[in-house]
Amino acid sequence: MSVYQLTIGDIECAVLQEGAAFMDRDSVIARYPNADPAEVAAALGGNEPSGSLNLLYVNSGGTRILADVGFGETGPPGMGGVLRGLASLGIAPADIDIVYLTHFHGDHIAGLCNADGSLAYPNARYVTMQAEWDEWMARWQAASDDQNLERFRGLRDRFSFVAAGDEVAPGVTVVDLVGHTQGHSGLLVEADGKWLLHVVDLLHQAFQFDHLDWHFGFDSDGALAVETRRRTLQRCADEELLTLFYHLDFPGLGKVEKDGEIFAWKPIN
Ligand SMILES: [Zn+2]
Repeated sequence: MSVYQLTIGDIECAVLQEGAAFMDRDSVIARYPNADPAEVAAALGGNEPSGSLNLLYVNSGGTRILADVGFGETGPPGMGGVLRGLASLGIAPADIDIVYLTHFHGDHIAGLCNADGSLAYPNARYVTMQAEWDEWMARWQAASDDQNLERFRGLRDRFSFVAAGDEVAPGVTVVDLVGHTQGHSGLLVEADGKWLLHVVDLLHQAFQFDHLDWHFGFDSDGALAVETRRRTLQRCADEELLTLFYHLDFPGLGKVEKDGEIFAWKPIN
């Protein structure tokens, strides 16, 4: 369990590590369907692939927001760090007002329920993009994934849908990151001339900064994800934003720099 606390102006934030999954090299290398596996292997080099899950917690004026929920009690061994991380900050699951779901991949939503089926964040309302809801209702129907269909239909009344630019809480707005999924989105935290942009699954491994055109195997629309990746990284560099990635090495925070046409990741120390 690791927790990294920071403030953006007067907004309290924390990055909570859900866990770090072991990523075997061969399966990481196989995740870039339009790339030559030998090139991916060379890009990874001697580095360990990152399997971290970094969740953003924000307290804006007393509204407590958790962006994604990780695996919670139901994940593989080594997960569940977010619940322990919140406890270490004196925050009970019942204190979370808003669960913001960036997208509906399992490593972002599985922790909505506890092992006994009860709600992990019993007082929260859930916020996401309509396109995300629509994509997964259709996909789960096509796959006869009754567990997810039942769970999400049962929670429908707790959901509200937002669009890019909408304010979730004072100083916390929605950023469109479409491509990885149809409603993939992040949050921009802004206060007192300070910014934090949570770009979630804009990329998954640090070597992708050198290979922005590589599709990722779990992208809903790989070509659109490439456009979004380029546009968003450009913004991060132009505006010198503190940037958070869900899957880079904990805490996943740093700056995106650009030298000529080349982007580079500068993690915080
Ligand atoms: Zn993910």
